[in-house]
Amino acid sequence: MNTNIKITKIEKSRVSDFDFNNMPPFGSAFTDHMFVADYIDGKWQNFEIKPLENLSLHPANLTLHYGQTIFEGMKAFLTNDDKPILFRPEMHAKRINRSAHRMSMPDIPEDVFIDAVKALVGLEVNWIPKAVGSALYIRPLMFAMDAVVGVKPSKTYKFIILTLPSGPYYNRPLSLKAETKFVRAVKGGIGEAKTAGNYGASLYPFQLAKKEGYDQIMWLDGIHRKYVQEIGTMNIFFVIGDTVVTPKLDGAVLAGITRDSIITLLKSKGYKVEDKLLSIDELIEAYDKGELKEVFGSGTAAIVAKINKLAIKEKIMNFDVDKYEIANFVQNYINKVRKGDIKDEFGWIVKI
Ligand SMILES: *Cc1c(COP(=O)(O)O)cnc(C)c1O
Repeated sequence: MNTNIKITKIEKSRVSDFDFNNMPPFGSAFTDHMFVADYIDGKWQNFEIKPLENLSLHPANLTLHYGQTIFEGMKAFLTNDDKPILFRPEMHAKRINRSAHRMSMPDIPEDVFIDAVKALVGLEVNWIPKAVGSALYIRPLMFAMDAVVGVKPSKTYKFIILTLPSGPYYNRPLSLKAETKFVRAVKGGIGEAKTAGNYGASLYPFQLAKKEGYDQIMWLDGIHRKYVQEIGTMNIFFVIGDTVVTPKLDGAVLAGITRDSIITLLKSKGYKVEDKLLSIDELIEAYDKGELKEVFGSGTAAIVAKINKLAIKEKIMNFDVDKYEIANFVQNYINKVRKGDIKDEFGWIVKI
């Protein structure tokens, strides 16, 4: 590790009071420490791990007004012999820099990103839940710090990493509604970046879909309202006949690392995988012919989320998730790799 990180430890860890057998809902419990760095005078500096604390922001902070902020989501796991490991951290380092580029923000050197994650997870190792399917969720984020009213890129930024214990993901099947009125992202927009605006824009249509009884939205392209993009915070896969199909990264779809892992895994095991422009007409036709066998989402949180209902306009399609084979295969396989239970044949695991 080459990054020089100042470490200030909390006086007494809260971990002994944390009930790992009865965890609060994901997202609300944080570990003792956070990593913080500042971008000032054109360079990253003040690398520090310190007790988690509130920030103090000027009310004119650019992030609050114009949304110059990006994030990542990744996980650390404990192997059966209690060693902490990371899953493809270099992919997250690369992706945060692609998001940074699109949002006119400075790069974070990949080694600083990875060193910071390793140092923080190493310090919080007692917070990594042991139960099957649980993990330490890692949330890196970068945001503008200039306090000036006016639309322009900030000159100063903060890079922060938070860690959150995450219990076994309850994997109930989800229902999806294809959204034909609102759009998440268009080619040329910011859909490819993991940046706040995409999620802010999705909240209202999501609330409407929930009122109609759906768990999530399946987003369609903004021009034709015809080509499938992705789900809330997941990419999407379909098994059509003997082929696994996923929308191609056309500039509006977020390049999921789980998506990439699933494609790599399936191809290496001899499955037919296609990433292409996929229209809702093709899906409906495949369903009517009995060829649409599986629909599932992919993301760091659950790896795979099975879809049991998909509504495209008036067409309601139902799926028997108990018959899903490919979804189960990729989920079990990637779960085992992430826990260090099987050979890491693709070089996805990084030890801390
Ligand atoms: C993070 C995210 C994904 C999934 O990415 P993973 O790297 O697989 O976790 C997919 N879509 C959106 C919009 C996302 O924000």
